[in-house]
Amino acid sequence: RIVYLNGEFLPFDQARVPVMDRGFLFADGIYEVSAIIEGRLVDNAAHLARLDRSLGEIGIRNPHDAAEWERLQTELVAKNGVVEGLVYMQVTRGVYERDFAFPPADTPPTVMMFTQAKTVIANTLAETGAKVVTVEDLRWKRRDIKSVALLAQVLTKQAAAEAGVAEAWMVEDGAVTEGSSSTAFIATKDGRLVTRPLSTALLPGITRAAVMRLAAETGLTVEERLFSVDEAHAASEAFYTSASAFVMPVVAIDGRPIGEGVPGPVARRLRELYIAMARGD
Ligand code: PMP
Repeated sequence: RIVYLNGEFLPFDQARVPVMDRGFLFADGIYEVSAIIEGRLVDNAAHLARLDRSLGEIGIRNPHDAAEWERLQTELVAKNGVVEGLVYMQVTRGVYERDFAFPPADTPPTVMMFTQAKTVIANTLAETGAKVVTVEDLRWKRRDIKSVALLAQVLTKQAAAEAGVAEAWMVEDGAVTEGSSSTAFIATKDGRLVTRPLSTALLPGITRAAVMRLAAETGLTVEERLFSVDEAHAASEAFYTSASAFVMPVVAIDGRPIGEGVPGPVARRLRELYIAMARGD
């Protein structure tokens, strides 16, 4: 397995980062994830745009333009022979003597990428549907930044794992913000999709945006508004979206079945449409 680190393609066990890296010390960095289907990157321009925006929000210079990023990603995908899976990118504020304030502006950022081979399209969880639990959202106030400071999501995903379910939806002031690593959607009994509007309270999901476009193209109404856990429990369908899960039907929330307790037609249709888009159909 080959990883990319600071301009080099290296065997996995030779790629080392110094202990004074600010990613290690402070989680002072940004990451991004793009899916790979049939050896090609999915919706990658949007992921690279979000990477650029996240870096800008925390004042890290983007080391590459989008064309260079894509060239490096493509080379790494090819070197690893990944046909289906994901490419992970991370940029930290670099290596410097430990101090909270930024190091000198000429400190080079640490740039790292790896790939993971993974079944995305034929994911069996999408056949059965995922169960989720709801937990309090413990995160900071700039969740629109895709920061590597993920302790709250680590604890949240662990709560899901201990409950024996695939995902946890986070809740703030009674409303669902998003999943620990996904965007939350519900479908109402009269067939409208509901998802939270973009703000600093959640990550602007790239898959969210694509699914909203696909939903609109098929004539579905999408409402961007807050929704409560009670409303989710009473929904006819629920699902979540992410670069690696695509569109994942949710069949139970907090142990209570959603709709018929099986993947619903709207989520299944949107998953098919998203897969077709990802394949470039
Ligand atoms: N919200 C959070 C908190 C996430 O970690 C992710 C996954 N990166 C998402 C939403 C989904 O975003 P995307 O569709 O861009 O993968």
